Amino acid sequence: MKALALFSGGLDSSLAIKVVLGQGIEVIALNFRSPFCCCEHSKGCGSSIKKMADSLGVEFKSIYLGQDYLEMIRNPKHGYGKNLNPCIDCRIFKFRQAKEIMEEVGASFIISGEVLGQRPMSQHRAALKTIEKESGLEDLVLRPLSAKLLKPTIAEEKSWVRREDLLKISGRGRKPQISLAFSLGVKDYPCPAGGCLLTDSNFSNRLKDLFKFEQLNLNDAKLLRVGRHFRISPQFKLVVGRNEKENMQLLNLSQNGDLCFECQSLPGPTAIGRGIADEEAKIQSARIVARYTSLDEEVEVLMKSIPANGEKKISVQNINEKEFLKFRI
Ligand code: SF4
Repeated sequence: MKALALFSGGLDSSLAIKVVLGQGIEVIALNFRSPFCCCEHSKGCGSSIKKMADSLGVEFKSIYLGQDYLEMIRNPKHGYGKNLNPCIDCRIFKFRQAKEIMEEVGASFIISGEVLGQRPMSQHRAALKTIEKESGLEDLVLRPLSAKLLKPTIAEEKSWVRREDLLKISGRGRKPQISLAFSLGVKDYPCPAGGCLLTDSNFSNRLKDLFKFEQLNLNDAKLLRVGRHFRISPQFKLVVGRNEKENMQLLNLSQNGDLCFECQSLPGPTAIGRGIADEEAKIQSARIVARYTSLDEEVEVLMKSIPANGEKKISVQNINEKEFLKFRI
């Protein structure tokens, strides 16, 4: 008997896998990545999820969510949580993909580390039911950590797994999971994350700005993770690197048609402008870049087209606080 587990690399999904493995079921771990994963922030976290799967002794699969995931975020049927986190639609989206993979790999059911009542939007009874129903997985999602509090699934009814050996954890506390981890020998799990970047209000503001003025593609979504963002005009935005690493990331994410702004002969940030810039937008962008030199005199900013087919020097006075804040997203 084989099961496919939705696997974030965190404690709950690791425990769910461990509990089911303990019942002699073969498990394949499926991880979803997106431009909004918190894990991509921390060094090497992507590979640490794989390491976690290896330490559990299960096969690992990983999927990068693409443009259709972004479309779902723009128009979620079930709406948003506190910020731009469409948790119910996000779970439905992932479970639908998992269903396809379940069928491909010949698994009989899905495992999820969800805990009843742990997350306000997507882990109450009605939401769990909606998610299963709309992903075509009714009664096929086993949640080992809360199973005894939920209606038996097909895996329990058909005795593929023993319901009596499953758990009845609920709520936001972590103590039961930590003590279960100790007794099952699950180690080196990451601290629980509070959700993806879509639950962060600053990040959501940047995304709202994109939704308002532009189409959203994967590159735009990745750009949201880097630097300070400024809305210069409805057609043009500027992203300014906060350090050397971000300056490099911005250059790596730049695409044809973007503009690159850097201070000439002075230490300062790299900034990428995206969209259609009139003369005024170019000057305001250069003034914002000049502000990071902390000089009061006129500064020369070099504006380069991407790909490199032209450059122009713009001499500007740095922007004052009030104007700066007006452009800041
Ligand atoms: S927190 Fe983010 S990744 Fe998690 S369910 Fe909500 S939208 Fe999806």
